[in-house]
Amino acid sequence: MHQMTLAEIARGLADKKFSSEELTRVLLSRIATLDPQLNSFISLTEDLAITQAQAADARRAAGENGPLLGAPLAHKDLFCTQGIRTSCGSLMLDNFKAPYDATVVSRLASAGTVTLGKTNMDEFAMGSANESSHYGAVKNPWNLECVPGGSSGGSAAAVAARLLPAATGTDTGGSIRQPAALTNLTGLKPTYGRVSRWGMIAYASSLDQAGPMARTAEDCALLLQGMAGFDPQDSTSIDEPVPDYSASLNTSLKGLRIGVPKEYFSAGLDPRIAQLVHESVKELEKLGAIVKEVSLPNLQHAIPAYYVIAPAEASSNLSRFDGVRFGYRCEDPKDLTDLYKRSRAEGFGPEVQRRIMVGAYALSAGYYDAYYLQAQKIRRLIKNDFMNAFADVDVILGPTTPNPAWKIGAKTHDPIAEYLEDFYTITANLAGLPGLSMPAGFVDGLPVGVQLLAPYFQEGRLLNVAHQYQQATDWHTRAPEGF
Ligand code: GLN
Repeated sequence: MHQMTLAEIARGLADKKFSSEELTRVLLSRIATLDPQLNSFISLTEDLAITQAQAADARRAAGENGPLLGAPLAHKDLFCTQGIRTSCGSLMLDNFKAPYDATVVSRLASAGTVTLGKTNMDEFAMGSANESSHYGAVKNPWNLECVPGGSSGGSAAAVAARLLPAATGTDTGGSIRQPAALTNLTGLKPTYGRVSRWGMIAYASSLDQAGPMARTAEDCALLLQGMAGFDPQDSTSIDEPVPDYSASLNTSLKGLRIGVPKEYFSAGLDPRIAQLVHESVKELEKLGAIVKEVSLPNLQHAIPAYYVIAPAEASSNLSRFDGVRFGYRCEDPKDLTDLYKRSRAEGFGPEVQRRIMVGAYALSAGYYDAYYLQAQKIRRLIKNDFMNAFADVDVILGPTTPNPAWKIGAKTHDPIAEYLEDFYTITANLAGLPGLSMPAGFVDGLPVGVQLLAPYFQEGRLLNVAHQYQQATDWHTRAPEGF
């Protein structure tokens, strides 16, 4: 039962082969047995899951029949969930029970999904390895000594290990696509503004975007359908109609123009991953696509620009955690300054503190022009590069990550080495574009992802290309041994 995709579950539930409650109980016991190896959950919500499953079964018995009705999933632990701990992977929010549901959570709940729990993540979504969580590192089910990627590493590990069919993630600089690549999943970061950020604990507000993580593009289409849409509570959410993502999955790729940026094949890229990227291109050519070289001349400036902008926004967003209103408070503060200082010094981990300091520095009066303003200019140049490229091609294809999953601890003492893992993903966030990672092969038994980028609001095209690729290949069906 645990091997089923969301689409298969939807069919099984519609055909009354099993009930949502039966399926939910199977998955909850699987989580209880297997998750201790992975540490992919921060909180389990068994009682809520059973109640929601029973309610979904009752709705179905009364004649309702939506594709997500009774579908089990989990939420990254930065989506606010009413009455349930929403920790953001941090001691700072270890005691925080959200007073309301995030829009993503409430939309999916009204579509009938069943929440099994809240997944582990890098603290405040800062990281590419899921090692910075207050609740401990998440293990990659493909090799328990390796990282699953981050920051949505808990969602990735749980879905890859077949503990559940799908989960939500968020992507500020790659946190859906990168862990999807490292665990053999399909993950989609939508266009900025496509999915509401209301109730999502902010990291870098101009970059953050929620999206689906699942094993197939077909499942990502189902999940995105339940997440996307205008939300008056989020001033950056965009009032555009949501297309039927499942309806375009079978569009032929004949004549589709795929651009491959020449700058992608630089020294930092593992040559074995480059080889798999070329093979995926050949596969898509067989399906009728036309491949062209394109150029993203400002690509090399993306990491430095991102690692100024994201910490700058984080330093501002995280100022609300002051030990006064909610979250962690130090013991016996001497005075108000001591309360602020010690609550923040004790409540935040080292990576979060590093980013707050870098961000506050970049925004300070003396350095604003030199760092923040320059980074914003680079951001515009990167966006322009994409607009030029998309004048000639329909999608851009390349690696999702320069390397496969690395050993836990291998980059812990070298934050820059970890930042470089975001080379291929962060440009989509800087430009606000949608991006998808899909399984495309293995290196040393570890999964490799290929990334597709498209113009604004072309999520349907990304899902279409990935679905067609998945009809012709079987990488996405491979499961890690022991799960
Ligand atoms: N690795 C990037 C960072 O640490 C991206 C994280 C994310 O997308 N949330 O900022």
